[in-house]
Amino acid sequence: MANHVLYNEYHATTATVRPAWGGTLSHEQVRRAWRKLCGVAGCTCGGPAGERPVGVECVRYGAVDAENIYKIIPIT
Ligand SMILES: [Zn+2]
Repeated sequence: MANHVLYNEYHATTATVRPAWGGTLSHEQVRRAWRKLCGVAGCTCGGPAGERPVGVECVRYGAVDAENIYKIIPIT
């Protein structure tokens, strides 16, 4: 799947993620994106990856081997 640029309009930051097949992101990818987009402990500005709407959002998708999997979905 193609790269996605996630935005955070509150902190004016961006982060590029490369989802696996089906648009999924590992917990580690989500954590890395969050550190770039927000990184402020306790901040509630955005979604799980620190994204704040523009185009796509990140939602919790499930757990495999106790690791959270997230999915990138378009905002319509
Ligand atoms: Zn924030």
